[in-house]
Amino acid sequence: MNIILLGPPGAGKGTQAQHLVETRNMVQLSTGDMLREARTSGTDMGNKVAAVMDAGELVTDEIVIGLIREKLEAGNKGGGFIFDGFPRTLMQAVALEKLLEETGQSLDAAIELRVRDEALVQRILNRAVEAVAAGGEARADDNEESLRTRLMEYYKKTAPLLGYYFAKEKLQRVDGLADIPVVQASISAILDK
Ligand code: AMP
Repeated sequence: MNIILLGPPGAGKGTQAQHLVETRNMVQLSTGDMLREARTSGTDMGNKVAAVMDAGELVTDEIVIGLIREKLEAGNKGGGFIFDGFPRTLMQAVALEKLLEETGQSLDAAIELRVRDEALVQRILNRAVEAVAAGGEARADDNEESLRTRLMEYYKKTAPLLGYYFAKEKLQRVDGLADIPVVQASISAILDK
């Protein structure tokens, strides 16, 4: 099974993806994680996108599509892929379809984690505080200003994908504000259908 987790920043896509990796042998493809890794290792691409990410803007389609292409060509462990934070634009969605087709695969569902906007801001700011309390570092883009930009980018460029996948009869919705195990169960029910 190949699925997309859709939803604004802070909706819980990463948390849910992690659970699917642990329970279903799926492979998580998070373009955000790949980009952060590229930054940490100081690759040319990582250095190039750093400022864009910190500001909360989207990096170019070309870069993220390139990252996903590499991973799709490398294959999965049999459990399928979870696309987390990708696609974020219509162009990425079309590119994904083509890449899946080229590798003999298809998309089973795009699952939207629905969360009220007011709850998102609080969640993200809490995530920053928790990261620091745990002795780590908060993400550079987990601050109120970047978050506003990330939300705006989501509504301008990513939210149209909800209509796109609805029209393709791939869209499923779950309540992202429910407790984590409840969200996990809702997603499981979709995957088991
Ligand atoms: P995330 O971890 O998914 O919240 O992504 C963190 C940041 O990485 C985003 O705010 C963007 O700057 C960049 N990014 C991640 N995925 C994408 C994508 N699919 N398209 C464009 N930019 C992305």
